[in-house]
Amino acid sequence: MSALLEVRGLTVGYGGAPVLRDVDLDVPAGSIVALVGANGAGKTTLLRTLSALVPLTRGSVRLGGHDLAAVGVEDRVRRGLAHVPEGRGVVAELTVDENLRLGGLWRGPDRRSAIGEVYELFEPLARRRNHAGHQLSGGERQMLALGRALVARPTVLLLDEPSLGLAPRVVAQIMAVLRGLADRTGLTVLLAEQNVVGALSVADHGVVLGLGEVVASRPAHELAADETLRHAYLGF
Ligand code: ATP
Repeated sequence: MSALLEVRGLTVGYGGAPVLRDVDLDVPAGSIVALVGANGAGKTTLLRTLSALVPLTRGSVRLGGHDLAAVGVEDRVRRGLAHVPEGRGVVAELTVDENLRLGGLWRGPDRRSAIGEVYELFEPLARRRNHAGHQLSGGERQMLALGRALVARPTVLLLDEPSLGLAPRVVAQIMAVLRGLADRTGLTVLLAEQNVVGALSVADHGVVLGLGEVVASRPAHELAADETLRHAYLGF
């Protein structure tokens, strides 16, 4: 069986030297794959390429066996690929509830039940549903960004640094929600993180990017235990 999200020979550049070179990546359905590596290794570029926000130079991206070469940003979302960018993108002037409603705008009545599910997953959001985005803590903003993506009922979630700047307790809470979604609903997650320990502790599989190339792709617990790799690429 091929993976739900399948990347082959992906090469990407911003005009100059390639930022990603010949990247292969498999994200099986219902699994969490952690994409780890130092700042500048190309994690954000990889996620942006998967969403068609950055054009690829060479290689292919397949979702559920279908090549996405001719599929643009919005149609990828409709096919179930949701992207939560670094920095979160919550609309500061809108309330929590309004932000969530934006998430599944094209979903119609189905949206309300999806929003209810998000409130069950993230209890702090339910309590603050009428608060504006700018009144939320960093952790609540990350929950809202994640919740907003979930309202569209994605099959694959691309998450860019969800733990950035958050307290360890909040990071653990968010990681636990992701694990629960993967296990209970079969959600598939590609999790780009500089928080290597947090990401590998929740992931099934880990992929290490070192300056634009995959330098290791192994079960997450094996990567976490590999001291040589940790010292060379992961900084701990
Ligand atoms: P971070 O953790 O900071 O997000 P990253 O691993 O996600 O790091 P990228 O942001 O993908 O890495 O950056 C990879 C390389 O591509 C870096 O050298 C960066 O300077 C370069 N780069 C990123 N965006 C652009 C752009 N729009 N134009 C030119 N170069 C870029």
